[in-house]
Amino acid sequence: MAASPDLLALQAAAIQFDDAGTSRSLVAARVDGWGMSSHAVVRLARPRSVAGVQAVFELAATHGWTVGLRGAGRSYGDAALNEAGIVLDFCDFATVQWWEPTTGHIVVDPGVTIGQVWQHVVGDGWWPPVVSGTMFPTVAGAAAMNIHGKNNYKAGPIGDWIERFRLVTPVGEIVDCSRDDNADLFHAAISGFGMLGVMVDIELRLKPVGSGRVEVEPAWAPNLAAMFERFEAYIGDPATAADYCVGWIDAFGSGRSLGRGQIHAAWALSADQDPEGRVLLDAAAQALPDRLFGLIPKVWMWRLIKPFSTPLGMRAINLAKVLASRFGPKGRYRQSHAGFHFLLDYVPDWKRIYEPGGLIQFQSFVPKETALATFERLLRMQQERGLVNWLSVIKRHRPDSFLLTHALDGWSLAQDFAITDRNRVAVWQLCQDMAAIVVDAGGRFYPAKDSTLSPAHWRASHGDERLDAFVALKARVDPDARMQTNLSRRLFRSGTAD
Ligand SMILES: Cc1cc2nc3c(=O)[nH]c(=O)nc-3n(C[C@H](O)[C@H](O)[C@H](O)COP(=O)(O)OP(=O)(O)OC[C@H]3O[C@@H](n4cnc5c(N)ncnc54)[C@H](O)[C@@H]3O)c2cc1C
Repeated sequence: MAASPDLLALQAAAIQFDDAGTSRSLVAARVDGWGMSSHAVVRLARPRSVAGVQAVFELAATHGWTVGLRGAGRSYGDAALNEAGIVLDFCDFATVQWWEPTTGHIVVDPGVTIGQVWQHVVGDGWWPPVVSGTMFPTVAGAAAMNIHGKNNYKAGPIGDWIERFRLVTPVGEIVDCSRDDNADLFHAAISGFGMLGVMVDIELRLKPVGSGRVEVEPAWAPNLAAMFERFEAYIGDPATAADYCVGWIDAFGSGRSLGRGQIHAAWALSADQDPEGRVLLDAAAQALPDRLFGLIPKVWMWRLIKPFSTPLGMRAINLAKVLASRFGPKGRYRQSHAGFHFLLDYVPDWKRIYEPGGLIQFQSFVPKETALATFERLLRMQQERGLVNWLSVIKRHRPDSFLLTHALDGWSLAQDFAITDRNRVAVWQLCQDMAAIVVDAGGRFYPAKDSTLSPAHWRASHGDERLDAFVALKARVDPDARMQTNLSRRLFRSGTAD
């Protein structure tokens, strides 16, 4: 990791820029990847307008600084970090500009979050068609990573629902991008992790919902093969296919229980199917409860779980979940959209159980023909090395048309690894070795979750043709390679190409 420049030296360089008539400052700041295992000291700028973004690009060109972008900083690793360069943070540039409830189209500033979107539209009977497991990412950050939801196999990634946006390039141009205008930039900026310009005025198509709830069916799978089979049974027949499907895996299960876990399949409900669910078409009614059992403030919960944040403690927690899944209540139940989708927001600050070293996620996407054997190998490898991940989630995906997309016709396995001073080197090595297996299986990786990938594995996973096409586009819109992040320098070595 690059050594941090002296924070004070950066502060001394504090400098003003004009933001549509108001003067704003660059400030020195330390920013973290969401997983808390990577950090950077940066010059932070928080523009409120396109003019402010352009002014920062000008400033960067004058001083020879690089510029990285940051939405809500929900990428696990180094995607929104830019050591010693400028970080453009969009938290103050976050207005819903336009909403049309008759068509379900919304236009937002880059800092508007997925949470803001659903809160804005749910009362009119709409919901974002693709959401992540947390509601805090911005729409622009989600577009830049082309995020997927628990319905990727059916709805595609968020890019499939974006109608258009304007791209502010590092040379100050504003380019309209859609499937008709500058389609090459449209398909590359979505999935291009902020390397081509700043997306603004993003128009997103939403989906109508007749009820504020979904119907959920939990199912137990005694091992990974059974998990794959049951999953396919839920999603295989278009007439009955679940609208959402996600699997949790106990990575400590071994032998015949390797890959055991629980599936949650869910179906959208029409107004006729769920007349009582209408009252939940209301932002306040969707809000996640802030107390457990109505008593314990959930802000305390991570502290209650913290004593279990050891390999032994996590083995016990995973086992408790196995027992609850196998022997707990069966049958379908109804759950609010927010409750079903944003499970990871239930326990505020849960990532703090990983302090002080933080966590990294290794999420790989493997074609359906090779996925089962590949994921079994990954799980066995970490068990053999005594580096079992603490949380594993499995999803089904489909290919899409975005240049650097991570999705393919196959499966993904997301695995959270705790990082400590003692295990850091070994976990990094494990990730290299797992990446080699994934590449051999024809798989891909996800920059939003990545912290460890090498340029060789990154290139091999996409192939020369795709990466070279991306590099050529970048050279066209960003000839000085102004836009860089720690992630881009890691994946492309120089931040641009080779
Ligand atoms: C608990 C948790 C659960 C998650 N679950 C999922 C999931 O289910 N599915 C999934 O796909 N992802 C998931 N993610 C990952 C998350 O959705 C992505 O990392 C997303 O990109 C975060 O958005 P952000 O606004 O925080 O962007 P940041 O993390 O701040 O930045 C992400 C990228 O967007 C770029 N960017 C930011 N703003 C702009 C802009 N205006 N124009 C162009 N580029 C820009 C940045 O350069 C950076 O490369 C999860 C993350 C967390 C923490």
